[in-house]
Amino acid sequence: MINGPQIETGQICHYKSLFLPAILKAMKDYKSLSAVQNDLKEGVITCAQLVEGYLEKEKAGRDLNIFREVFAEEARSRAVEIDTKLKEGTAGRLAGMVLAIKDNICVKGHHVGASSKILEGFESLFSATAITRLLAEDVILIGRTNCDEFAMGGSNENSAFGPVKNPLNPALVPGGSSGGSAAAVAAGMALAALGSDTGGSIRQPASFCGLVGLKPTYGRISRHGLIAYASSFDQIGPFSHTVEDSALLLEIMAGADGYDSTASSRPVDKYSEANTEGKKYRIAYLKDYVEHPGLDPEIKGKLKTIFQDLIDQGHTVEAADFPMVEYLVPAYYVLTTAEASSNLSRFSGITYGYRSPSAKDTMSTLLRSRSEGFGAEVKRRIMLGTFVLSAGYYDAYYTRAQKVRRKIRERTREILENYDLILTPTTPKTAFEIGAINDPVSMYLEDIFTVHANLAGVPAVSIPVGTHSNGMPFGIQVMSDLFEEAKLLAFSKEMNRQ
Ligand code: GLN
Repeated sequence: MINGPQIETGQICHYKSLFLPAILKAMKDYKSLSAVQNDLKEGVITCAQLVEGYLEKEKAGRDLNIFREVFAEEARSRAVEIDTKLKEGTAGRLAGMVLAIKDNICVKGHHVGASSKILEGFESLFSATAITRLLAEDVILIGRTNCDEFAMGGSNENSAFGPVKNPLNPALVPGGSSGGSAAAVAAGMALAALGSDTGGSIRQPASFCGLVGLKPTYGRISRHGLIAYASSFDQIGPFSHTVEDSALLLEIMAGADGYDSTASSRPVDKYSEANTEGKKYRIAYLKDYVEHPGLDPEIKGKLKTIFQDLIDQGHTVEAADFPMVEYLVPAYYVLTTAEASSNLSRFSGITYGYRSPSAKDTMSTLLRSRSEGFGAEVKRRIMLGTFVLSAGYYDAYYTRAQKVRRKIRERTREILENYDLILTPTTPKTAFEIGAINDPVSMYLEDIFTVHANLAGVPAVSIPVGTHSNGMPFGIQVMSDLFEEAKLLAFSKEMNRQ
């Protein structure tokens, strides 16, 4: 840890008693863009006041270690500009949306660090395509959020700048790797946020913080300007309180991009208008997930109640076999570490970022800069990835994992030929204590239900559906076939209202 605050549970009471009443007094706790835009229209609030409100909350909750950088002045001046546009009737569709972004998405003129020491001092030379599109619709960026280093982790404890604390209970993790983005929205420091999801990094923190979190189909949103972790898995996606807001953000960010050949040129549906229109769905739930011994019994109980409610509403809910559960996590970690070892080779200490002060020649520059610049988990994954790609082991690990990936994808799509949607738990349990899981394999196993969608490439969303008796929220995961976000989100809107 470089300069994060110490984790002291004593600070929790301080945070709860002093911070919350201040928030309530300062600004209405907006949960949707439509509520904000309504108040803007009615003259109840201005964008300038909104920004001040969010900045106040950020200041009051700084102990949570959510932001790496707050764009205070820039947000203020954009708010004034957008207030003028609102008066003139020329404002974009996102006028009034204050957005936090994960520290692995580039914004021109700002530092971007993937919460790693190795990118110290690095400034983005361009903005990610997703960011450019949102700015064109008048979003206001409030800052960049802390995350697991290079998006590798599921608790935010792997940040070089200290862990993020869950605003709902600061002794607990907010999830990861996009934990800062989820925490920013849950703490009311932004209306929505962007994260990236390679194996669950949007859906798991959304579940831990009581939010909607969406991982689109692979290729639905351009990855241009997203710092790569595992390029055939990574997707940018939104966090919000409502499905409507995530749908709108997706609609604006999605679509072909000349800067990313993996961004699909399929037409972008009007996700924000997606509606079930009383449609009855054919839904599969994965028995092997719901009966998994690691699944918390209360989450399992809630899932079963939801299935029954859906049946009562006239939907079909049936069990489907997915016998590959035990292969999900191993295949994911072989393939993503292989891709990471290649992607992260560019951090050499030579072209940009951190260079060790004790570097003397090419070899010591590489060796020392990388040894000092990367954290333990990132180094573990680079070594693991290099090993599975090495000449003697390539076929035994990498090739085999690719074959497993193909089987997972085929079985998933086979289920989705017969059903509209797949329902699963998002996470095996609710948010855990900071420091509670300290061996890497146990942490990897927490990803069991989320890595599936990234291996298969299909879209998946986590919808908050309940509060555990321990007081923490949890979500249900909904998956659909490739590029069927309109159906996925229409159904999710209904789920989120129940
Ligand atoms: N927890 C997973 C991992 O550590 C997911 C990370 C992600 O989606 N970026 O790889």
